[in-house]
Amino acid sequence: MAAKAEGLAVVVGAGMAGLFAARVLLETHTEVVVVERDELPDGPEPRKRVPQGRHVHGLLARGQLAFDALFPGIADEFGEHGCALGDVTGDVRWVFDGARMRQAESDLRVVSASRPMLEWRVRERVRALPGVRFLLGHDLVRPLFTGGAVTGVELSGPDGVVQTLDTALVVDATGRGSRAPVWLAENGYGRVQEETAKIGIGYTTRHYRVPDEAMGGDLSLHIVATPGTPRGAVAAKVDGGRVVVTAYGMNGDHPPTDEEGFLAYLASLSAPDVHRAVLAGEPVDELVTYRFPANLRRRYERLPAFPAGLLVVGDAVCSFNPTYAQGMTVAAIEAQVLAEQLARGPVDARAFFAAVAEQAVDGPWEMALSTDAARSGAVATDEATAAVLAGACEHPEVAVAYARVVSLVDPPSALGAPAVRDLLTPRRVTTGGLTFDVQVSGPEDGTPVVLLHGWPHNYRSWTDVLPALHRAGLRTIAPNQRGYSPGARPDAVEDYRLPLLAGDVLGIMDELGVASAHVVGHDWGAIVAWHLAAKHADRVRTLTATAFPHLDAYQSAYRDDAEQQAASEYVHVLQDPATAEAWLADDAAQLRGLLALHDNALTPQQQARYLDFHTQPGVFAAALKWYRAGTLLDGRSDLGQITIPTTFIWSTDDASVSTAAAERTADYVKAPYRVVELGDGASHWQPQQFPDLVAAEVLALVGADAPVQP
Ligand SMILES: Cc1cc2nc3c(=O)[nH]c(=O)nc-3n(C[C@H](O)[C@H](O)[C@H](O)COP(=O)(O)OP(=O)(O)OC[C@H]3O[C@@H](n4cnc5c(N)ncnc54)[C@H](O)[C@@H]3O)c2cc1C
Repeated sequence: MAAKAEGLAVVVGAGMAGLFAARVLLETHTEVVVVERDELPDGPEPRKRVPQGRHVHGLLARGQLAFDALFPGIADEFGEHGCALGDVTGDVRWVFDGARMRQAESDLRVVSASRPMLEWRVRERVRALPGVRFLLGHDLVRPLFTGGAVTGVELSGPDGVVQTLDTALVVDATGRGSRAPVWLAENGYGRVQEETAKIGIGYTTRHYRVPDEAMGGDLSLHIVATPGTPRGAVAAKVDGGRVVVTAYGMNGDHPPTDEEGFLAYLASLSAPDVHRAVLAGEPVDELVTYRFPANLRRRYERLPAFPAGLLVVGDAVCSFNPTYAQGMTVAAIEAQVLAEQLARGPVDARAFFAAVAEQAVDGPWEMALSTDAARSGAVATDEATAAVLAGACEHPEVAVAYARVVSLVDPPSALGAPAVRDLLTPRRVTTGGLTFDVQVSGPEDGTPVVLLHGWPHNYRSWTDVLPALHRAGLRTIAPNQRGYSPGARPDAVEDYRLPLLAGDVLGIMDELGVASAHVVGHDWGAIVAWHLAAKHADRVRTLTATAFPHLDAYQSAYRDDAEQQAASEYVHVLQDPATAEAWLADDAAQLRGLLALHDNALTPQQQARYLDFHTQPGVFAAALKWYRAGTLLDGRSDLGQITIPTTFIWSTDDASVSTAAAERTADYVKAPYRVVELGDGASHWQPQQFPDLVAAEVLALVGADAPVQP
């Protein structure tokens, strides 16, 4: 470490912001005195002057990274003190308007600790640094100025005795009630602009002992307030084997402080998760409340002049709607800003406040105000935000991107990046006079993989397969095929013959500039994929077919195998022109039944999405034309040999595929061939039920192939 160039610095306030500031000042100052009016406990106990400490205090991932940078190894230390550690998205359940966000691994750590524990461990780390001294029970009366610079502070001790400390640097970390604006005005520096945005938040909090099963294995449950339900709650495992439960509401809609009312409030939320956890638990303390009237920002960076040697940090600069859990993280980022400035020499206050605004406060402030405005109904939620939230409940990759933004790790612009946008918005690709919705995603320069869905699904078959493919650097192209895309829905049944369906895929590849691709197909998509592999081997590098065998093998089994003949009976039902209407009757009762088959192999969310899709006008009838065109059972299939590396995944319990058809498929592949047989409990819907397995098989096959230029 370089020699310390400066003498004594004074930090006022031993909250999180003051402790962070003290830590970085000790890099450049021989002595740092932390002045605090409160008495500080020797353990993770709440204290009088930080009443918010009794309420849930989420540490955002960006804050956790900053904590670890300021105090290396502190996250592990929290773990050693009984705090819960996990993954920000993998181990945290977020629920928006009743819909759960996907819980994918993000590689960002979450430390779930009580505020007193966070403060105590940080305080102990600071206390252990050479050169620091805590002056407790002392109140800052005012800083002393001479000739445009700070020269000291006037303090009042526990017995009312006033003393002064000489110093050239004072950091005001006294929180939201800071008097810095008054001192500045009194000393001729003018009025600091204050911006406020009313939110009228009320918190009610209580700690419980909750059995792990009632938390569903998650570290914390967040029922997020939304414009639809502008009240929410958090239940988070914290130190001491407790779960902290905080309910909150905006604009005066505050959670009650009696037990019955509190439980009723939890029961009124958009999802029952927190309420259920609480009912399974035992309270360990009393209900406490907190009222937070408004977001408050003081614009020190806009003052035309500023005394040398006075800095302001933490809530004293900006305090945000606490439900976004930004305060401690912003304070930690401000400390990092201070460290950067100190490394350059004596801090210029104006440069410091400009950097604090830009690097620490602007982004979170903007996010807090815009989200508040939408939640309170003052402005409509913009479509892009709504799409991201819906996308986060569907796509693991969008969930991680969203969590990174609200955790202040990435800027909001990351949600407009192609990796997110491409998943949320399909492209329109026109070929042969038809326009297809095609989900094109993954690295732009990645090796292309075409994924063809089955019936009665759509390109969402691949949602959970995609992340692993994208991580491996593959570009995925998943069309809604003929009949499924509104712009590609011809009337005539004969327009759904197999060569035309395969031609669509070639046309889409042409339009996207893809000469050849790895092809993956499921169910009917597998039939198209077998066709492409057999008839257009120059365009297909490898084939992964799931659920459906080679069509020639299928028809051969249908001719002479009783099991296959029985297994194909359903096809006649689907070929009946009356089926579409019948299956959509009674609120789509039969279609619902189909989607719930295989013991609900599809999740309720997947079933709901496919139901929503197939009940849109014209979709289901068009999709059934694939059957009505006769391809499956016409006995005329003549695809012939497959000469490219192939993997066939099928489920031995699949009621629509016989063992004979599956086994005979090997006779039609004259290239490296692998069969993956899934046993008990495996349904016909492998991409949704076993996405990791399907992705691993695709990757194994693709890995065996030389990279393809898009
Ligand atoms: C209900 C609630 C929930 C919150 N939840 C979260 C969350 O989930 N995540 C998150 O990151 N943030 C949260 N916050 C914000 C967070 O608590 C603060 O942003 C963060 O602690 C930084 O505060 P601070 O250190 O600037 O001020 P404070 O925590 O207010 O500390 C100020 C300190 O200064 C001392 N002091 C004040 N005046 C004087 C004086 N004249 N002389 C001497 N000492 C003085 C006080 O005693 C106190 O110790 C929440 C806030 C509230 C209100």
